Amino acid sequence: MTYAYVFGPVASSRLGRSLGLDLLGRRICSMDCLYCEVGSTDTLTTERAPWVPADVLLGELAQWAAEHPERPDHLTLGGSGEPCLNSDLATIIAGCRRIMPGVPVAVLTNATLLDRADVRADLASADVVLPSLDSLVESEFRRINRTCGGITAHAVAGGILDFARDFSGRIWLEVLLLQGVNDTPENLALLTDFVRELAPDRVDVTTLSRPGTWPGARPADRETLAAWRTALNAAARPAGGHAAPAAAAPSLTGRAAPDAPSTGPSSADAGHAGGLTPDGMPRITNGATTGTGPDVATDVVESLRRRPQTVGQLAQALARPEDALRAEVETLARAGRIRPVTDGLTHSASGEVFWTARHAETGE
Ligand code: SF4
Repeated sequence: MTYAYVFGPVASSRLGRSLGLDLLGRRICSMDCLYCEVGSTDTLTTERAPWVPADVLLGELAQWAAEHPERPDHLTLGGSGEPCLNSDLATIIAGCRRIMPGVPVAVLTNATLLDRADVRADLASADVVLPSLDSLVESEFRRINRTCGGITAHAVAGGILDFARDFSGRIWLEVLLLQGVNDTPENLALLTDFVRELAPDRVDVTTLSRPGTWPGARPADRETLAAWRTALNAAARPAGGHAAPAAAAPSLTGRAAPDAPSTGPSSADAGHAGGLTPDGMPRITNGATTGTGPDVATDVVESLRRRPQTVGQLAQALARPEDALRAEVETLARAGRIRPVTDGLTHSASGEVFWTARHAETGE
């Protein structure tokens, strides 16, 4: 069976074997971030609605659970936008627990709705909440996150603190840095104070790992990332410095994740750099997931239409051998169905070409 709203499971450095649920179905968000990997937000809103109704989503999850006896390490709620915009959030979390008892529920959120008591109450039943906050400098916040209406960084920070006060689960804060946008000393100083007050269980400082919405978006360099990680993780430690380092999560490869956060979000837990989305993820079917052919070509084009990726990222997302995918990519490029990215971030840090199917077929 092909699923529309259940994705993975995929290996996540933070969440282990993570099975994703898409609570939006489309690009619906309260932000339109410069670095969003799934493209520009189609519906910019703070209105909550059952964008994907709980019964539809939980019906798929129950079907998945019946077909797959193995259980993931986490059920991760996200989507091509902000999952707290789904007004069925609390029902969905409760349904996850009923269908997969014992599997922790994680929620990726841009935290813009946490100043609302109803959203905080809905989210309180999760086990892990991963809020993001990229800048506490209001001008940087507006520039990088391009929020809906008059949302301010100050309000988002206040919402996270209010939520944390009554939340008994774990909070893993994420900060995404863009070179020349929010990697300023002023922002680091403000976020350090904020992290000291929040005392999250973990802080992940990430950067762009795929082309974002804005062609000018550039990843922060290694030295900057290292300095920010050191500063923010030190601030997160309670007095006495006995806080545990970020937990090492199991992965599909059998290796423990490194204690240090990765240089960018994985496809499984991309945080708000595109949420936990269908875009790069394999649709789990009962069919084979290796080899080449028409199905593979369709999967590659569909995946690249939604999000630019390297061949290596495609291999991870589609759970197929990299060599076979490389051959398929070359065939599709010769046929004009996909093309290399030519604007903005054109290569990964390791020099791999980013491919896209956007506009390749229409020639626009
Ligand atoms: S990166 Fe996340 S918060 Fe930002 S526009 Fe994309 S889905 Fe929304």
